[in-house]
Amino acid sequence: MDSLSVSANGSHLGSDDDHELAEPNVPPFEPLTAPVDLPRIERAVRELLSALGEDPDREGLLETPARVSRMYAEVFSGLRIDPRVYLRKTFTQKHDEMVLQKDIEFTSFCEHHLLPFTGKAHIAYLPNGKIVGLSKMARVLEAVARRPQVQERMTEEIADLLMAELEPRGVAVVVEASHSCMTIRGVRKSGTSCVTSAMRGSFLTNPATRNELMMLISNKLS
Ligand code: ZN
Repeated sequence: MDSLSVSANGSHLGSDDDHELAEPNVPPFEPLTAPVDLPRIERAVRELLSALGEDPDREGLLETPARVSRMYAEVFSGLRIDPRVYLRKTFTQKHDEMVLQKDIEFTSFCEHHLLPFTGKAHIAYLPNGKIVGLSKMARVLEAVARRPQVQERMTEEIADLLMAELEPRGVAVVVEASHSCMTIRGVRKSGTSCVTSAMRGSFLTNPATRNELMMLISNKLS
């Protein structure tokens, strides 16, 4: 296994009946070219409100379909971004120690409920001559997060992207997030967080490297 998926508060995301574990995948990173069909989303939101028994023509709801359509275009904007472009401007540097960017905040949308999950990602790699600007990690994360997602797949996608584009000796991605589909509905476990990780290369094969990463993430500088 090159990944693990555990919950900090004892529950496993996959134990929710609505959540099947993500299949391993090679994501299609080709960005969509057709624009979002905003009028179609508006019609769908009107229909949704009617199906709920609401009156989509009452004053408070009049602008809702248009507002929701713009919101979806924004939160799913990653579908039209190729995250690889952020990793193509690299610098040649003789730096072979771990590069770690910690606590990068993100919001993504669970594809099972279209509800947000929010948290932090820690992204590390062991350069092999190529390094990339630090801000690019946050860009990659955002492009991958802003699409219908599951946390497990998002974690793996970021790791695979870095491996493919930077050709480093190893990549580690650790993501911790709180899922509103678990906190506002269903089992309603507030305060639970789900932790996923994806290890590649040396992080997978060398326990010392992995331990160093975990210590750096948890702030215990040796
Ligand atoms: Zn969900």
